[in-house]
Amino acid sequence: MSKTFSIGGIHPNDSKISANAAIEDFPIMDMAYISVSQHLGAPAEPVVAKGDKVKTGQLVAKASGFISANIHSSVSGTVTSIEMLPDIAGNLVKHIVVKVEGDEWEESIDRSPQIEREITLGPKEIIERIARCGIVGLGGAAFPTHIKLSPPPGNKAEYLLINGAECEPYLTSDYRIMLEYPEQILIGTKIMMKALGVDHAFVGIEENKPEAIKAMKKIASAGYPQIKIVQLKKRYPQGGEKQLIDAILKRRVPSLGLPIETGVVVQNVGTALAVYEAVQKNKPLFEGIVTVTGKCMTEQRNFRLRVGANMNSVMFAIGGFPKDAVKLISGGPMMGKAVSRMEAASVKSTSAFLLLTEEETKRGEEGNCIRCAKCVDSCPMGLEPYLLNRLSRAGRVEDLEANMVHDCIECGSCMYSCPANIPLLDTIRLSKAQVLKIIRSRPKK
Ligand code: SF4
Ligand code: SF4
Repeated sequence: MSKTFSIGGIHPNDSKISANAAIEDFPIMDMAYISVSQHLGAPAEPVVAKGDKVKTGQLVAKASGFISANIHSSVSGTVTSIEMLPDIAGNLVKHIVVKVEGDEWEESIDRSPQIEREITLGPKEIIERIARCGIVGLGGAAFPTHIKLSPPPGNKAEYLLINGAECEPYLTSDYRIMLEYPEQILIGTKIMMKALGVDHAFVGIEENKPEAIKAMKKIASAGYPQIKIVQLKKRYPQGGEKQLIDAILKRRVPSLGLPIETGVVVQNVGTALAVYEAVQKNKPLFEGIVTVTGKCMTEQRNFRLRVGANMNSVMFAIGGFPKDAVKLISGGPMMGKAVSRMEAASVKSTSAFLLLTEEETKRGEEGNCIRCAKCVDSCPMGLEPYLLNRLSRAGRVEDLEANMVHDCIECGSCMYSCPANIPLLDTIRLSKAQVLKIIRSRPKK
């Protein structure tokens, strides 16, 4: 039987129209625009300068600070500038710009297709290698993986959960890697289990991906008995960290708490693959699998895309901006962000680009709240979105905190369910940021 989380959730059409598009190499672009802020935490510090020659996989910016990650070049060529350029959200961020000349990789990277099963490194060396290769969580927040694998004093991991739910509509990059690289994902999982010192891991996959469940179960049962493949109900946001822990282990992460406080570390299947490549192949994270999809596209795609490909090069690779498309989203329709500038480039955690038509982006006219409570029923965090919306609009910050606005995971389920078309998430997101800022500014007890 499929497992699922306890409260809320919605059932949007999953629109996995790119599911049958096998992973293909993205044509290497002419220029790469490599951001030094591709992770949660402090931006990395460039270690190259204008005019330097770089190879694919070479360190170009070094982690600066406790929460930060190394950045490696995704191409070989010459650094032409280091400048402030817009990221996907339109914010100006420092980028290392490289003119591409061939594709010469660092010799230390093992590019052979052979699967390396034996894990020779010890826990400390694994974490060092993951940090050196700049691995970050590929499930959304891009939190540096080496930090997540080093629980703070007083916390001990009991379980590792691998998120293969991919509940966001349209996205199929995780599905494709589970079909095409199942054993590498399981070896990556085993590596992280060794780093954490845990004996049990679970990979959660939604039931709308039977082929992925079959592929992963086949490999797991043949050689990875400590890793269980768990079938999950198709229900959004099943892939939320807290929802996954609830579904598989029936544990609750406390408000403002971390999964490790319940003895759990959650990583994504893409991160498990990146960990395998870093530890067994010495390959830094400079490319990833990215779905490019939309009902207005004639051909759906799943690309192995280098970091630093700007939107113009992505559109060029699919034959141009589809004529009916009016909006480009990085990610899926529920949690993705609208791309504001075509100069913006892909980063490590980019999972998809979704093209939408005018019809698909239409928002109905906003009406008055009819107190139907559909938003309350759909909230997976047990919040009262109609109330949070009212408090947000009135600027009642203390009441917002008392009503736990900071627990919102920004899943958009409330807004999706609202028959009055009230932009609940838009108002709640703003006040959540405000309340979190206040909470974090308070002296620690
Ligand atoms: S966006 Fe926030 S308030 Fe709305 S359903 Fe999701 S968690 Fe609840
Ligand atoms: S779903 Fe919309 S109309 Fe219904 S109670 Fe919530 S905010 Fe009001």
